[in-house]
Amino acid sequence: MSVGKNARTAAIVLAAGSGKRMGSSIKKQYMLIKERPIIYYALKTFQESFVDEIVLVVSPGDFAYCKKEIVEKYRFNKVKNIVEGGKERYHSVAIGLKCIPDCDFIFIHDGARPMITEEILERALSCVKEHHACVVGMPVKDTIKIADEAGKIVSTPNRNLVWMVQTPQVFESTLIKEAYDKLISNEERLLKEGIAITDDAMVVETLTGHHVKLTPGSYENIKITTPEDILIAENFLNG
Ligand code: C5P
Repeated sequence: MSVGKNARTAAIVLAAGSGKRMGSSIKKQYMLIKERPIIYYALKTFQESFVDEIVLVVSPGDFAYCKKEIVEKYRFNKVKNIVEGGKERYHSVAIGLKCIPDCDFIFIHDGARPMITEEILERALSCVKEHHACVVGMPVKDTIKIADEAGKIVSTPNRNLVWMVQTPQVFESTLIKEAYDKLISNEERLLKEGIAITDDAMVVETLTGHHVKLTPGSYENIKITTPEDILIAENFLNG
């Protein structure tokens, strides 16, 4: 592996979600902010960064639209592959991993996070070179409570140790591929055990036992989920 200056890097940009929480007829990744679809912003940052290649994962049926209206229109020539994702986010990641070229490090990024910057990508690259597995996040500002299903508080974790996790999540290629292979072959058992897989770090921690290091992202690196997030992102993008 060439982990020096010339490490080969690839990114999986995820845009295969249904965006139900947005409550809109247009999928959130294609909603416009400053006249550009939300997915444009993350792709632009990766296109202009040191990352060598991008795999874009889209919803079944969106391939032709994304190819013509996003990848070709904005000349994202680092996007070498557009593939259709799966039911859950982790299915989409697993499909993306199958299409990734030979490389040293893989960045996995939610296309619904338009505020990603090259500075964050560089920080994550330094971190993954040292720790093999790295996740961008920020310390929480609010106190967090763990509740039971009835909404009764059961514990209050020490706020100084609680982070909100963002993307990109970045891994050595062999490590993340091993983790996802194990996830897919143990999927049924994990589902039966009630384990909800919501990010890639969790897949690596649970299925390989490898530790994952946190590195600062930014409080602006929000995931667009509900309508007010559009207004917040618009403000950020207006500077
Ligand atoms: O659903 P959530 O907001 O956690 O999705 C995070 C990212 O994963 C989004 O960019 C979404 O498009 C993507 N996703 C995906 N395939 C799915 C579900 C979500 O690519 N099945």
